[in-house]
Amino acid sequence: MEKQDQLLMKKQNKALVLDIVKNQSPISRMEISKITGMSPTSISRIIGELHQQGFVKETELVTSGVGRKATLLDVCADVLYTIGVELDQSVLKIGIVNYVGKMIALRTFSRNVLETYEETLRSIQYNVNEMISQNMISTKKVIGIAVGLPGSVDYQNGVVRLSDQLKWKNITLAKDLSELTSFHVVIDNELKMKVIAENTVGKAKGAQNSILVGIGSGIGSAIILNGEVYRGESNNAGEIGHTVVDPNGNVCSCGKIGCLATYISEGALIADCRKVKEISTIDEVFSSFRKQETWALNILNRTLTYVALAISNLACLYNPEIIILSGNLIEKIPEVKQTIEEKCERYLWEPIKQNLQIVYSDLGDQGVVLGAAIHAQNTLHELN
Ligand SMILES: [Zn+2]
Repeated sequence: MEKQDQLLMKKQNKALVLDIVKNQSPISRMEISKITGMSPTSISRIIGELHQQGFVKETELVTSGVGRKATLLDVCADVLYTIGVELDQSVLKIGIVNYVGKMIALRTFSRNVLETYEETLRSIQYNVNEMISQNMISTKKVIGIAVGLPGSVDYQNGVVRLSDQLKWKNITLAKDLSELTSFHVVIDNELKMKVIAENTVGKAKGAQNSILVGIGSGIGSAIILNGEVYRGESNNAGEIGHTVVDPNGNVCSCGKIGCLATYISEGALIADCRKVKEISTIDEVFSSFRKQETWALNILNRTLTYVALAISNLACLYNPEIIILSGNLIEKIPEVKQTIEEKCERYLWEPIKQNLQIVYSDLGDQGVVLGAAIHAQNTLHELN
């Protein structure tokens, strides 16, 4: 075998062992040897290296059952940290997440819609630094920042191509934030970040084919196919908000007519509701719905029909095992869940329905931050 190949294999074996300790701890060296098929000597050598690098520690626990007792190993959750950031029109959230994907600090700030790009960057820098020092984390252990935001994102070059909500176009966010903070920075669309959280620690943990649908200021989805985020040619796969559902329908903010978003997004709903009542926020629509006002019941009923149609179309296109629903609409008025399920029952195609679970995210409003931080770890951490 070539020297290069040997080195690569050594690296892969080490990563595999660390992965097993991370996901199946507490675990003994002997069990790892059994799972991997590697010799106990090799496992002991690899564990020795991982211990020295701070990734693995011995616990107080020993194996139970017959035979020689062996000390169990655990992963060191504090060996490294990543920062997840969620950026939206009116909110900035920053979280610190440890090596095992646990959020150890989270802060939410309201963001002025008139805030400039530079002000936003400085606010992220200031708060990231403050949170790191408040939690007494060594900066050396923080391997990078990931930002999730609404819009079309060139994740490879770290450029925000277009974000209607943030009013940004062709912004070199990763480069600018990295220069300001001195951290590595990666960026992606918010729902792509969220589906990573769901797939790693949430409702779709370990699922090979799953879809996250976000219903709120807009409607969109993010797709995991064969265990990987499905991005399409320009990272816009899943942007169902601009699929046309009625060529004779309402004009969309994108300029087309009858986009799905015109029946579901908060802005479109508010505009429609104002034909009946002087309201200005989505919460007022929800409150009228709760009071059973006819117009609110009708408009939201129509919205839920389109939500169910979107779910059924996604299910037919990708045949996922699980669809996770998230976003403001579901979180603020959970009573709509039953109606969505009834409508899905009606629209979903039988051969697909049998193997499909429709569930609700329980990551709440932390999903994007958590997913971003996990994404930062996945992309920025390389084991030596
Ligand atoms: Zn549109």
